[in-house]
Amino acid sequence: MLAEKFRKIRGLSWRVMDGIFKNMWDYKFVPVEIIARDSGVEEHKVEKVLKSLSDEKLIELKQTEYLGGAFTFLGLSLYSLNRFVRRNVVTMLGEKMGEGKESMIYNCMSEWGEAVLKFHKVGYPSFKKVREKRDYGDLHYTVLMVRSAKNEFNALKKLYGKVSVPKPYGWEGNAVLMELIDAKELYKVKLENPKDVLNYIIEEVREMWRLGIVHGDLSQFNILVSQDGIWFIDFPQAINLNEIESDEELKMAEEILKRDLTNLVNYFKKTYRLYVDASVVVDEVLKSH
Ligand code: ATP
Ligand code: MN
Repeated sequence: MLAEKFRKIRGLSWRVMDGIFKNMWDYKFVPVEIIARDSGVEEHKVEKVLKSLSDEKLIELKQTEYLGGAFTFLGLSLYSLNRFVRRNVVTMLGEKMGEGKESMIYNCMSEWGEAVLKFHKVGYPSFKKVREKRDYGDLHYTVLMVRSAKNEFNALKKLYGKVSVPKPYGWEGNAVLMELIDAKELYKVKLENPKDVLNYIIEEVREMWRLGIVHGDLSQFNILVSQDGIWFIDFPQAINLNEIESDEELKMAEEILKRDLTNLVNYFKKTYRLYVDASVVVDEVLKSH
């Protein structure tokens, strides 16, 4: 379905979308003149293209005060895919692997062979809410999707090679391209050695903390398991300790780490009757930064 829609998009439309993408940080709806200026497409043509893209649900129009356009989730995802395709990084889109509230996941062929393309659907406001609140008011929600994708890509880059995460291949718009992991979510698996697995997970979380990353959404749904190993996925809300600027923000990061570890300990308690004291684990991890 995505591939079909992708094939129907013509050159002029991609240029108009380029014009929107370049300016979406400055305009909630990018005015026609600005799109024309940056895409080299004449204004009256930009208007026509915007309207047809809006019919296809790739663009959201603003028609009061001035004519302008913003991406929809679908439009931004197709545009991001095109940026990978133009670079010859993605060569073929495969099956949809899943779609939930927060993302749409596709299998694809890439420069590195088979891979996963994750399109971000939601924007995670930075946990540094206080500092960033100002700029949220007037941003289009698709900007936040791009931020989430960027944040996930950066966290994976920082961790890969040191912590068991999929190898990050690339980031464009709201899309992250990464290694395909052949494994199942922890909640679907019946572990034979839950104690070893929990210990390994705690060690990895400790290593993330040492490297300055807090996952922020750790659970049995975001850990993949197979005979070959254990992987951590889903990092759009990850916190980078290097970006922290106050004690208050550090406190928040510690609270989130605590929540992550407590979730996991509780899952193992509930599922495997494995009793581990979460607060001891948290203290040990905190000590190691
Ligand atoms: P949703 O709201 O759709 O659940 P999400 O934000 O939780 O999305 P992820 O957890 O990153 O997104 O991915 C959703 C699912 O896609 C995962 O539970 C996993 O089954 C699969 N998946 C994601 N990344 C990979 C990967 N690199 N390799 C294999 N499978 C993956
Ligand atoms: Mn997930």
